[in-house]
Amino acid sequence: MERSTIVRVHEGLHARPATRFVKLAKGFESDVELVKDGKAVSAKSSVKLMLLAVKENQEVTVRANGADAIEAIEALIGYLENPRAGLDDESEAGEGGPEAAVATPASETAPPAAAAVDGPPKLQGVAASEGVAIGPAFAHFPPEIEGPGRRLQGDEIEGELERFRGAVASVQARMDRTLAENNLSAGDRGIVAALRDIAADDSLTGEVERLIKGGDDAVSAVIAASATIAADFSAVDDHYLNARADDVHAVGRQICLVLLGQDEVSLETIPQGAILIADDIGAWDLARAPLKRIGGVVCGHGGATSHIAIIARSHGIPAVLGLGDKVNELRAASQVAIDGNAGHVIADPDETARADFARRVEAAAKERAGLKVFKGVTPTRADGTVIEVAANIGSLEEIEAAQEAGAMGVGLFRTELLFMRHMHLPSEDMQAETYSALAKAFAPHSVIVRTLDIGGDKPIAGIEFPDEENPFLGWRGIRMCLDRPDIFKRQLRALLRAALHGNIKVMLPMVSEIAEVTRTRALVDECAAELKAEGVPYAGFELGVMIETPAAVLIAPALAKEVAFFSIGTNDLTQYIMAADRLNPTVAKLNDVTNPAVMSAIELTAKAGVAAGIMVGMCGEAAGRPDLIPTFVKMGLTELSMSPASIQRAKKTIAAMAAER
Ligand code: PEP
Ligand code: MG
Repeated sequence: MERSTIVRVHEGLHARPATRFVKLAKGFESDVELVKDGKAVSAKSSVKLMLLAVKENQEVTVRANGADAIEAIEALIGYLENPRAGLDDESEAGEGGPEAAVATPASETAPPAAAAVDGPPKLQGVAASEGVAIGPAFAHFPPEIEGPGRRLQGDEIEGELERFRGAVASVQARMDRTLAENNLSAGDRGIVAALRDIAADDSLTGEVERLIKGGDDAVSAVIAASATIAADFSAVDDHYLNARADDVHAVGRQICLVLLGQDEVSLETIPQGAILIADDIGAWDLARAPLKRIGGVVCGHGGATSHIAIIARSHGIPAVLGLGDKVNELRAASQVAIDGNAGHVIADPDETARADFARRVEAAAKERAGLKVFKGVTPTRADGTVIEVAANIGSLEEIEAAQEAGAMGVGLFRTELLFMRHMHLPSEDMQAETYSALAKAFAPHSVIVRTLDIGGDKPIAGIEFPDEENPFLGWRGIRMCLDRPDIFKRQLRALLRAALHGNIKVMLPMVSEIAEVTRTRALVDECAAELKAEGVPYAGFELGVMIETPAAVLIAPALAKEVAFFSIGTNDLTQYIMAADRLNPTVAKLNDVTNPAVMSAIELTAKAGVAAGIMVGMCGEAAGRPDLIPTFVKMGLTELSMSPASIQRAKKTIAAMAAER
């Protein structure tokens, strides 16, 4: 029995989602396999699953054979289609946890090399976790474990197998204790759980047992088997999975230490603010280390997607990884300065470098602390008009970060994710619940929900897109929605129901003619009449449009008479004004919002909106730029919506404008 689906797990079945998938699969008696491109592996082995390198949006087949095959397929397909549903504490780290940051590493491929600069030599590695630090060096170079290479006698084999199984059980028990101690963050717990699974995985244990049966001693067998599996991970064309090679080595090392009756060199004694220098640090060791005392991490191994980087980022510890052999130059250093933004490390910095780092550390701390006071600020213009600094979000999981930053509502809720996460189009009830949850979370501030903005460049189950020469100029956004009233009306009905909370506004993407607004309004009226007839409670909402096509700019005065607000989408507006594909790096220079052509399009829009007395806001990336915010405010924009990370700095910028008057 088998069923196919498209994988919706963010970044694919890498370590933690694989762990979660295996845990689910092991709950069934049936033999379960996952098949990709004709290759089938056991769904009960996380190593094999990871090596299958299943990526987000790929098609896979779940195959099951046994008494509970139907239930197994149902549960596993359900996970692949909707990985966040029914997450328990441990698995929560698998998606949206600190690993989410993996998608935007500062630099992944910086070659390890000494940079020729003035002052003490800088070692260049991978900028894996941002921030600067300077502190005493804490060198952590536990000796390599070497296998004795002893050949076993026939009658020793059974005993050696038992010894190996005992060592695996002991490593797992230690990892279980670490998990049970419960002082790990959700992200760290997910990482330790993934390592525990590697220790128990058939791929590793099976290979070690095969070698022992062939006459190898247990330590040599573990070293050889770990090296083979690590090499498999290194060979996959995916740098997240490449980084799992280090995890396999780390687990193999733990098993060997137990077999040899040795303890790992402890990180417990690391002094306050020290920079940890190592060739490699097991993620498990780092997760258990006194992280609050660690000022920075420098490693020969690792990259932006390794578990060390993930842990460092989630704890705000600057890290430079992937230094290669150059890390040995730091072994004897007494003080180390680390720049996690640029990927530099300096051993024993001279006085000038020390002063420079001390100044930067202080400035960064000051900026962070200084920005916090803007969280609750309500910025105003000279005439007292409030400038709403709102958040751009795409899922309910991002609500907390937006609130933490001090968002004054949501200026752009991208509904695409809601549609892309599922194998079926989301139901009206499910959408109504989502929009209601948002409305409640940000009341009394507004929540602007953008109707589905999707085109042929992204697959969505349930909508057939034609092949198009130019998807960015094609059947997308409001154009597609108006052609598919079955989909559009479901969303509009859900929005009318959520509007009962009083703070929902709705905006249309990719508008290029007034008819798109009037046709939408007719559909909204139709939906309202239906809800009324069905006795379903609902309320009206303000309808606005995104200004992101040149056509919308040129008809802005007429458009402003039809809608309640404008929100300028500078990302698309820039690409369409400049005729420069926003995804094409070759024309990236043209894709510049500060180009006079784009700035004058923004100004024309603002003028038209202000003249008509409607709100003009902006939700493209430019809205969060401190260098442009004063210009936008002066043009008459009263709402700026941006990623939560930019909110406090934007509020500060507007407050500084007020201070200047
Ligand atoms: C924009 O185009 O500026 C915008 C905010 O929308 P998106 O980036 O989702 O296309
Ligand atoms: Mg857009």
